[in-house]
Amino acid sequence: MIPAAFSYDSPRSLKEALALLESNPEAKLLAGGHSLLPAMKLRLAAPPALIDLGRIPDLDYIRDTGDHLAIGALTPHASVASSELLRSMSPLLPEAADSIGDVQVRNRGTIGGSLAQAHPNADYPAAILALDAEIVTLSRTGEHIMPAREFFTGMFTTALSEKEIITEVRVPKTTGSGVSYRKFAHPASGYAVVGVAALVRTRGNSIESVAIGITGVSGTPYRATGVENALNGKPVSAIAEASRRAADGIEALGDTFASADYRRHLATVFTRRALETALERARGK
Ligand SMILES: Cc1cc2nc3c(=O)[nH]c(=O)nc-3n(C[C@H](O)[C@H](O)[C@H](O)COP(=O)(O)OP(=O)(O)OC[C@H]3O[C@@H](n4cnc5c(N)ncnc54)[C@H](O)[C@@H]3O)c2cc1C
Repeated sequence: MIPAAFSYDSPRSLKEALALLESNPEAKLLAGGHSLLPAMKLRLAAPPALIDLGRIPDLDYIRDTGDHLAIGALTPHASVASSELLRSMSPLLPEAADSIGDVQVRNRGTIGGSLAQAHPNADYPAAILALDAEIVTLSRTGEHIMPAREFFTGMFTTALSEKEIITEVRVPKTTGSGVSYRKFAHPASGYAVVGVAALVRTRGNSIESVAIGITGVSGTPYRATGVENALNGKPVSAIAEASRRAADGIEALGDTFASADYRRHLATVFTRRALETALERARGK
């Protein structure tokens, strides 16, 4: 329960943080600490140095930039969940954030830390994928913008290099669409055994466009393209049948709590529920 010894730095700018990363390639960035510190205490991680991002100004914000909404990497889950701006213009992320862990986790954990951690049962990835969000990073070579679909590369693995810092997440405004995040939460941790984010736009009785992001089923979150293809341009009555494709082509994880078959079953059920709620909301607009 006591972590291995480490050095601690608390830079006051991103430039200083990048220089520290450069000089110590084995150092780890520290944000809310709600994934990294438990891992260090269990000695699952033993970084020789921590670079605390917490004192760098202007990384905790939610802004309307005109084109999209921008969320600073250090924004805690609780701020995402309660943001009036996000709730009115892009409510999928607040709905996912509101379901994360407990009050303490939501107050300390950050959106940048959660995405960098890429836990296979984290909630944000499903919403980030359904929204086709962009992840903005900074490294010595400058700013980079990664589409969400290229960001998650495996279990606890992302396209981030070790010397790269997430600075911002950009999400589109979804006014005119219906969105929903539905999750089967693990009773102990609150993590998503399966979580499904849906975004639906309708025209009359048909589905004009649909996007579905799924977390928890496999090691890597994914877009349920089988369901999307079965629904685009189709009558809304096709939802139940299309949801059966939620885990098509996916190698499902199994553990002592939920077998691979059970997870596939949950994916179908929660995809249908997320789609039905998103549809109701789309029609209510
Ligand atoms: C009891 C408990 C329950 C939880 N339940 C849930 C849940 O239901 N759903 C859920 O999604 N999550 C859950 N979490 C995880 C929580 O959301 C974490 O806060 C989150 O995964 C990590 O965010 P953090 O800011 O704490 O990151 P940290 O723990 O500080 O860092 C995590 C990793 O990200 C890296 N990192 C941090 N910030 C950046 C950055 N800006 N750029 C690049 N790399 C960075 C760090 O180096 C580290 O490798 C839970 C955690 C706990 C302890």
